[in-house]
Amino acid sequence: MATTHNLGFPRIGAKRELKFAQEAYWKGQSTRDDLIQVGADLRARHWRDQAALDLAPVGDFAFYDQVLDMSFTLGNLPERVRGFHGDALDNYFRVARGRSAQSAEEHAECCGGVAAGEMTKWFDTNYHYIVPEFDAATQFTLDTTRLLAQLAEAKVLGVKAKPVIIGPVTYLALGKAKDGSDKLALLPRLQHIYAELLTALAGQGVEWVQVDEPILVTELAPEWQAAFTQAYQALDTGAVKLLLATYFGPLKENLPLAAGLPVQGLHLDTINARDEVDTLILAAPADRVISLGVVNGRNIWKTDLEGVLAWLEPVAKTLGDRLWIAPSCSLLHVPVDLGNERKLDAEVKSWLAFAVQKLEEITVLAAALSQGRATVEAELAANRAAIAARRTSPRVNNPAVKAAVARIDAALGQRKSAYADRAAKQAALLNLPLFPTTTIGSFPQTIEIRHARSQFKAGSIDAAAYTEAMRAEIARSVREQEALGLDVLVHGEAERNDMVEYFGEQLDGYAFSQGGWVQSYGSRCVKPPILFGDISRPKAMTVDWITYAASLTAKPMKGMLTGPVTILNWSFVRDDQPRSTSCLQLALAIREEVLDLEKAGVRIIQIDEAALREGLPLRRSQWREYLDWAVESFRITANGVADETQIHTHMCYSEFNDIIASIADMDADVITIETSRSDMELLGAFDDFNYPNQIGPGVYDIHSPNIPTEDHIVGLMRKAAERIPADRLWVNPDCGLKTRQWTEVIPALTSMVSAAKTLRATAS
Ligand code: GLN
Ligand code: ZN
Repeated sequence: MATTHNLGFPRIGAKRELKFAQEAYWKGQSTRDDLIQVGADLRARHWRDQAALDLAPVGDFAFYDQVLDMSFTLGNLPERVRGFHGDALDNYFRVARGRSAQSAEEHAECCGGVAAGEMTKWFDTNYHYIVPEFDAATQFTLDTTRLLAQLAEAKVLGVKAKPVIIGPVTYLALGKAKDGSDKLALLPRLQHIYAELLTALAGQGVEWVQVDEPILVTELAPEWQAAFTQAYQALDTGAVKLLLATYFGPLKENLPLAAGLPVQGLHLDTINARDEVDTLILAAPADRVISLGVVNGRNIWKTDLEGVLAWLEPVAKTLGDRLWIAPSCSLLHVPVDLGNERKLDAEVKSWLAFAVQKLEEITVLAAALSQGRATVEAELAANRAAIAARRTSPRVNNPAVKAAVARIDAALGQRKSAYADRAAKQAALLNLPLFPTTTIGSFPQTIEIRHARSQFKAGSIDAAAYTEAMRAEIARSVREQEALGLDVLVHGEAERNDMVEYFGEQLDGYAFSQGGWVQSYGSRCVKPPILFGDISRPKAMTVDWITYAASLTAKPMKGMLTGPVTILNWSFVRDDQPRSTSCLQLALAIREEVLDLEKAGVRIIQIDEAALREGLPLRRSQWREYLDWAVESFRITANGVADETQIHTHMCYSEFNDIIASIADMDADVITIETSRSDMELLGAFDDFNYPNQIGPGVYDIHSPNIPTEDHIVGLMRKAAERIPADRLWVNPDCGLKTRQWTEVIPALTSMVSAAKTLRATAS
């Protein structure tokens, strides 16, 4: 009865085979054919993993990014690479990352030295795509090579193939008009190419094509809504059947539009839009296939199968053969296979499902719908037991934490005095010069650090030896900072592998996978920690390191913590309570750390909220609610300290204008932000908004190996001083220095310190 399918499968491979193959090729350690073979092997394996489904995606595999693949299919290459010769895959990498393999650089003169494509977040996920580029003259030309080759491969392997493409409206919406022209003016040309593409697919015997239009879950201007109607009329050629896929949220006001488009099927993300199922069925024509995303494609929890069946069975009765079921979105956003986890806490593991397991859930649900629950009683019973165990486990539920969250009141997030009073007391105590200099926290993660960490992990050195090695690194960074003449020092974060994992590992309520990798962009993968239970802090996490660092210098030593919102946004989080509740629990735990640092005599404490902005919901109408609890969580973490303790926060992105008021509400004494790449453009936010506290606009772009000159930094700071009173300005880099070398960091910070001296000398 119900047709089962999948929207997309993680492409990196359970052991990150794609990553290693890409990187080996780029470094010139393997051939292009080797890389192409790894791609084919992964596709074949992943289709086998999906063999139980009625339809499997084809075209979801990409050697770098699926949006870039679409740009190549549409012949929409940036101007700067259009004349390139050489191999298509090499050109593809040149667009993605500025260069291809070292071995392909015989074309360096004609096809080298090109800027990498701009990258940005795929909706509200942590996946980043290469932004399509347009201008008023953009022409498209169809290139079906990749898609048809993969279809042919699938055919040989007996795969029931459903090609996947990004829809024309989403493709346009995600791209950037380099000349500021109206992107929608390109739609007639674009839809023409899409129609050709569908004809080409029909020629290969394709019946269904999945067209992804996730932009439908966002607020659309009327002309973009109209673009949908126009585009899909043009694609309604009868060549193939179209499954229009929406995901990452409810359709809301776009539901009638989506339901009315001339397509043969519509996919809805019921994890986020279950209450739209009935409306959609009523609104859609009676012959429309309705595909329901019933398994969460973005988290790692087992689905409550009987919970789903309870509402899905009546829907299945209504829809009959018109019902399809699938994960809510592409499984790109989850790790591949839980079966490979050997060390993961067994109890927590029994509550989880990765991509392979999520597809098993789909087939169990389909069997229950088609042949009755009794036919899958064993599977349902096992699932029921796991769901019940998780719900009631004392590992998940900590009454003391729940009680502490219930006791939170507004006073908890309130500093004792207003900023001006605090600032006076802090100034008297810290005695800092005008334009004080500092860094954002980390210093280079040297070979020695990495070596000691891997030895410790492998058990070849003990905890005492590891601590010794880290202390030596901390002492080194303190020495370097004193020699540089920085005003506020940091310990350098040698002991931290990652700013979230480091804290997760020390908090109760967190678990860690060994192989739970998810692609972030290109060959880069992340392994988000798993927040599974009520969060508490068994003991102090950073105090020993910071007080050791402080003991080595007479200068102020800044304590360094990751804030609750960032920890939350970079973890897999619970689905059994609101994100806001998990965030408040994290806030209470980090607050204890703040207070312990203060008690230990640390006078300046920085709480990083690098990922605060990326948690913003897709729809602007929901921003307020998110910002309210995110800011409140930060305030609870930070604001329990005495007036004399100076709180810093750090954010590393440059679009502030729309959230600046919320950032001011956090009430940190000092905020350090990224600005240098935009040449202080970001400070425009401060034209209309009078930011009340102190600011350190980043003056050294740490993402680049270039060394900023003193003059450059002085110039940037003078621009900043046009908007913010000089006595509220700090001088610091954009972000942490862990990815840089000491040989770069020392000259850059030397320029920074002398720039501060020049600024002081010339301040009126
Ligand atoms: N304190 C962190 C560091 O310096 C901040 C990193 C970040 O903002 N991403 O590494
Ligand atoms: Zn940063």
